[in-house]
Amino acid sequence: MSVADLDEQQHRLVLTAHPLQRVGAYALAELTGAEEPEKVTPEGFRTAVEKMTADAVRAAKVRDTKAPDGFWLKVSLSFFPNSKMNHNAQLKKSDEELDAGIREWRTPPELASWPGVRCVLCGREAVGFYGKVDVPLAESHLYRNTTPRGHAGLALCWPCVCSFHALPYGCRLTGGPSIALHSWDERFLARVVSRQVERNHQHIVLGRAADKIPAREVVALHALRHYGERLTAGVELLVFSNNNKGQTLEIHSLEQPLAEWLRKTARRPELRQGFAALLRAHAGPKSPGVVGLARNAFHDPERIPAACARYLADRFDRSGLVPSDAADLAGLCSSFAIEVMWMKENDLAEIKATAHSVALLLNRETSAGKLREFHSTLKDPGRMQAWLRTRAVEWTLNPPEGADRPLLGSRAFQLLFDTGSDNRAWFHRQLLFVAVLEELHRLGWRPADGAAVAKEITEEDQPLGEDDTKYLQGEESL
Ligand SMILES: [Zn+2]
Repeated sequence: MSVADLDEQQHRLVLTAHPLQRVGAYALAELTGAEEPEKVTPEGFRTAVEKMTADAVRAAKVRDTKAPDGFWLKVSLSFFPNSKMNHNAQLKKSDEELDAGIREWRTPPELASWPGVRCVLCGREAVGFYGKVDVPLAESHLYRNTTPRGHAGLALCWPCVCSFHALPYGCRLTGGPSIALHSWDERFLARVVSRQVERNHQHIVLGRAADKIPAREVVALHALRHYGERLTAGVELLVFSNNNKGQTLEIHSLEQPLAEWLRKTARRPELRQGFAALLRAHAGPKSPGVVGLARNAFHDPERIPAACARYLADRFDRSGLVPSDAADLAGLCSSFAIEVMWMKENDLAEIKATAHSVALLLNRETSAGKLREFHSTLKDPGRMQAWLRTRAVEWTLNPPEGADRPLLGSRAFQLLFDTGSDNRAWFHRQLLFVAVLEELHRLGWRPADGAAVAKEITEEDQPLGEDDTKYLQGEESL
């Protein structure tokens, strides 16, 4: 390859298999105004690198990480520790010396000094070996960096190094560990990084501190719900720090069906109208619903319908009346079952038919006690089975109007109680309970002892907290 070709190659971004390099490459592309990394011209690449260098110089000259415009300098410690922009020794230097040091750091090595090996990420000529001054080297079996013996870093080409220099522009900066959202859905990644680069202008260029975020998982929830297209891949949340005080990398993943469901619940009118109830169902005494929902989504998605069941039961316990948002939540749980858990339509119909029958029986009760009793069996499948068996006798001896099938069919029994590993019995029982409340609400059931003490319980009885209200306001334009 000619020297001119080599030079051209060292100013062309490529996407590699490394998620953080990819986020950085998209951020660098956004700094040039290009739609995607591979469309960035060598001139555009040089301009973006120059801009990043100027931002680093400006931050370094602040010298004080606690100054009102010292945020980027502070954050740089967790991306480029010991670098020419933030090492203690830099403090004593003049502005000119700082400037020269940073420019030297951000200039590609001369051809004569190249090590003659390939870039470990893209396979092109490497220009040197790079360690934690330039690249987050967190330990993880997935992203463990392969370092040749005797070298303190990775063999990288210049565009890959610059992708890591651009990484902070594409991350949610917190002052502590940074948050990168990654996906193999290129369009989604481009969109998310582009918005982040825009937002980071005030933190990186102006050096102003970033607002606190309620939880890292909410960053992903927000990005998904504000994205207008169908997602073609799952998303990963990478939380990392390259700081001298402790290098960390945590990776949390959302599979595509769940990511797409969270996105769609902001778009489809019939699902969107229940979202406020879904937030109420996930709110804790001290934590907002968006945090509970986002955490459940990343760490234990089956808890989403369980949170709905618990919330509805709590409200029923307090008022003795079936909450008015039972139907909205049941709608969300059904779509969750089909679209995220891949439950078969027929199986969901079996659970719903059972719920309908249970509701017909409870609808004859004038006291709220029997529904409370049914709810208490959710924790104990043996007791739920016994409860349903007793009701099945009642169903046969004294069938309610409209009873045209057994209370509990054999398929429903299997779905609710089979402990085989391919059956999510616990999940199905939560669905059953939510569906029973939906049916009771539809039947207009008002137990006499409940109605005597309570007025109709509405959303106003359990208002959304401040954070959740603000979150929903942010979605009004969707
Ligand atoms: Zn490379």
